[in-house]
Amino acid sequence: MHDARDSDIKAKRGNSDSRVSRDVGSLPVNRVEKGHQTAIRLTIILPFHNEAENIESLVLSIVREVASSGLSPRVFLVDDGSTDGSLSIARALALSDERISFISFSRNFGKEVALMAGILECGDDFDALAYMDSDGQHTAQDLLRLVEAARDPDVDLVCGVRSNRDYQTHRQQRMTRLFYRLFRSLSDAPIDEGAGDFNVMKPSVVNALRRLREDHPFMKGLVGWVGFRKKLVPIDIQRREGGVAKSSTPKMLRLAFGAILSFSSWPLRAWSAIGMGSAAIAVLYLVIVIVQTAVFGREVPGYATTVVLLLGIGGLQLLSIGIVGEYVARIYDASKGRPRYLIAERS
Ligand code: UDP
Ligand code: MG
Repeated sequence: MHDARDSDIKAKRGNSDSRVSRDVGSLPVNRVEKGHQTAIRLTIILPFHNEAENIESLVLSIVREVASSGLSPRVFLVDDGSTDGSLSIARALALSDERISFISFSRNFGKEVALMAGILECGDDFDALAYMDSDGQHTAQDLLRLVEAARDPDVDLVCGVRSNRDYQTHRQQRMTRLFYRLFRSLSDAPIDEGAGDFNVMKPSVVNALRRLREDHPFMKGLVGWVGFRKKLVPIDIQRREGGVAKSSTPKMLRLAFGAILSFSSWPLRAWSAIGMGSAAIAVLYLVIVIVQTAVFGREVPGYATTVVLLLGIGGLQLLSIGIVGEYVARIYDASKGRPRYLIAERS
């Protein structure tokens, strides 16, 4: 609870951890401030890119539902370079209600960066922080279920996990499953199958996420990486209300590839093993050729073997250089020290 001792601790701490109020470990029904009971402050981050058909009704329903459940809502919109008039809607929403604010990027930087920007820019005025999709696939009612689960004092982080996948095509479902399997076997960040970008976090988790400095954040991986005591709540993902999904197959593949590069050095290391394997095969083959020559005399080998070996080994070499190149590109990106996003406007 908020008392003098708590403020003392905050004053002494003096690092970035002190920026967020730490008085709510358990999200009780009400917080006590200077003897008065005030509602728990819940900030909801909504990243959006061309969601003109969805954001207004979603934001209004979130504010209404959260307020009527006795919490004090604040909505923080992150416009990720929309070109369809979503920004004007965000402006109007922010003007009409002081509990709604927004930032707008100078261009599209991608959802992962938009989520990170929301976490960094939404201020410290909250007891719990949530983020969710703004296309209607995550609902205000489900948000309240996550908040309810966060009332447990032994839980720092509540993740909505999808209990259904019927909003995806069969091919997307297969690809997603394959990705999770690959990610889990290659990286050391635990990630839950079905975990989406629908979370409620206590300030300790927010502070941990704010300290990460990745150029290519992959939020599901980072949320797994920071740890903390987590609870999973199954949710039914709705079909999107309007507009089109931005996640095409090539975009999903890029995200999956980027996520694995960010969380695993195995693609890099695997080449030593493959190189050793092919060197061993070459030595074995050499022995066979020597024995064959000694026993059967000189043999004229066909072109096929030579060409296949040449192409095969050449291909492997190019692939391995390509993978090293991907990591080098990331080091190069990081060495430039560019900001992860640029804000063109804020309310
Ligand atoms: N989004 C974003 N920037 C992008 C793409 C998507 O902020 O470059 C937002 C989008 O507006 C939505 C959420 O991320 O609120 C999920 O996007 P989408 O519905 O396209 O993906 P899916 O639900 O298919 O994973
Ligand atoms: Mg969606």
